[in-house]
Amino acid sequence: MADLFKDHINPGQYHFMKLLGFHKVKVETAEGMYYTDQNGRKILDFFGGFGSLAQGHNHPRVIAARQRFQDENRHEIAIAFMSQYASALAKNLAACSPGDLDMVFLGSTGSEAMEAAVKVAERASGRKNCKIVHAENSFHGKSKGVLSITDSPLYQGEFKLTGNTYKVPFADLGALKRVIENDSDIGVVVLETVQGGGGIVTAPTTYWQGVRALCDKHNVLWVADEVQCGYGRTGKFYAFEHHGVVPDVTALAKSLGAGKAPVGAMIAKREVYMKAYGTPKTAMIHAQATFGGIGEACVTAIEGLNVLYDEDLIGNSAETGAYLKKRLEDIQAKYPKIIKEVRGQGLMIGLEFQDFSQTLPFALRPMVALLDDKLKGSLSGFIGAALLRDYGILVAFTEYNRNVIRLEPPLICDESHVDTFCDALDDLLGKGIV
Ligand code: PMP
Repeated sequence: MADLFKDHINPGQYHFMKLLGFHKVKVETAEGMYYTDQNGRKILDFFGGFGSLAQGHNHPRVIAARQRFQDENRHEIAIAFMSQYASALAKNLAACSPGDLDMVFLGSTGSEAMEAAVKVAERASGRKNCKIVHAENSFHGKSKGVLSITDSPLYQGEFKLTGNTYKVPFADLGALKRVIENDSDIGVVVLETVQGGGGIVTAPTTYWQGVRALCDKHNVLWVADEVQCGYGRTGKFYAFEHHGVVPDVTALAKSLGAGKAPVGAMIAKREVYMKAYGTPKTAMIHAQATFGGIGEACVTAIEGLNVLYDEDLIGNSAETGAYLKKRLEDIQAKYPKIIKEVRGQGLMIGLEFQDFSQTLPFALRPMVALLDDKLKGSLSGFIGAALLRDYGILVAFTEYNRNVIRLEPPLICDESHVDTFCDALDDLLGKGIV
């Protein structure tokens, strides 16, 4: 199986997984918080598919809804008709969204949702030569359009980018103000409300209120990327709800498909949407892709939302997330020379290790200089590999900051799972690895 992956999918990724020892694991089944491998070993999932498993693996209600849909011979592709499933999902998403975030575009991925978000904002801005501001260390997807606002040479490679973009430091209102005031062509600001790939980085309420006020003053559209931090991950449905502000456009994906279907959604304010696409002439500019809003994906997402609210997974994210953060802060106090910072909100927590790039012995560098210099001395790679091998726990690091372990377990996670993870980490660090 590992050889087939190497031969037909991604040889580079295989090499990388091999260094971590992940290539030996063949996941057979998954349920709730756990994977089961080929040897019947249970693996506690503290990674959660980059935060795409809010309801856990194979939630029985989600499985049952999908089964009913199949048993009733329902239609999948209703692109020529007014799909009742897509309409019902859009209505539910509008109900979950504050203010007049009411108009929904359905696609299959976060990248597709973000493409749609940037397009609607660009048109609604009214600028002919619209320029876009994004943040340093941003991640908005890997498709060709949003690649221009994904701040990573790793992903951008040699591709030709739009050039119509400005990059500012995240959470720096002064820098944002300066670029907006200097160029009236700037029509759109795109920001993750919590930076995921950048290392689980939050910004204070004063920043978000400043972004809102600045955009209003200059007639600029604010797009909040909530693909990773939305859907209850931080303890509110949208992370921006912690700050008492509403963006003009937002995007969800990941857990929206309840771990069983690929679903992404752009949600725009009605006024913004109507400015961009309000006439019959513009209908096709905005039309969904072939599989956007297909039946099975929509019934999966609808039941996923029902589970999210019926089981109060958002409240659990806030409560269990606070418990996780407290336990990690206690571990940090015990090992201050190893752990630099614990960050994040709800069940979106980043654990940053001190920089060992100069001192970590070569043998402890499982990913040395494989992809870029940032990997050198990455303790998170070593710890991730040891947690999987010795304790049966899965974690991941963040794309741009390899010293950060990303903890985004399913939102069904309870205190006993947190204890299992934290006890293992404490035990591992207590072995005096560095
Ligand atoms: N935006 C953010 C904030 C993300 O974290 C991601 C995925 N990690 C995306 C967009 C792109 O989503 P997808 O991988 O589903 O295309």
